[in-house]
Amino acid sequence: MTIDKTHKCTKCSTELLYTNTGSWYNARRRREKQGFLHCKKCADEHASEANKGNPKITGRPKGSKNNPNYIPHNRGKSENIKNIGWHKKETRMLQIARRNGYDTYKEYRDSLPEWKAYTVDVWRVTNQQPLDLLENIDKRGVNGQDGAYTLDHRVSIKRGFIENIPPEEIGHIDNLQMLPWEENITKGWR
Ligand SMILES: [Zn+2]
Repeated sequence: MTIDKTHKCTKCSTELLYTNTGSWYNARRRREKQGFLHCKKCADEHASEANKGNPKITGRPKGSKNNPNYIPHNRGKSENIKNIGWHKKETRMLQIARRNGYDTYKEYRDSLPEWKAYTVDVWRVTNQQPLDLLENIDKRGVNGQDGAYTLDHRVSIKRGFIENIPPEEIGHIDNLQMLPWEENITKGWR
């Protein structure tokens, strides 16, 4: 037996049908909380009304292109260009820490194994460099993206770690270059 549960759109009185009891309860709770419940059509109208004058925010925030204070949230994680989102660096660092169960970035950093902590330090230094001075920085993108360049450490982070080179040197602008992503991922140990 299926129980058909319905609500009425509070704007146009269209009958909304819920085949799932849970969704019916959720919708009712939402109506009580918000004071309205809309059908798809009224919801769209309501949203466009509410967003009037607010241009849709898409892509990178203004000024983020060569700004080291903004980093893509999927750096080194995803090959799916659609997943790029841009955040203030501090926000991103805190997100990473929280995701790993820490309250502050410092606590998270201190909890990491030596190699990982070194990597984090190198990237922190790297992101503080005037990256906009690098050739091809305007082509910066992610792995898998057609024609994209990615940031490369000439002397690799791995070698820096093994040879005890300070993160300040590996992350320094003099050790950075932009490489086509294909070249960068096949670079190997250097
Ligand atoms: Zn409606």
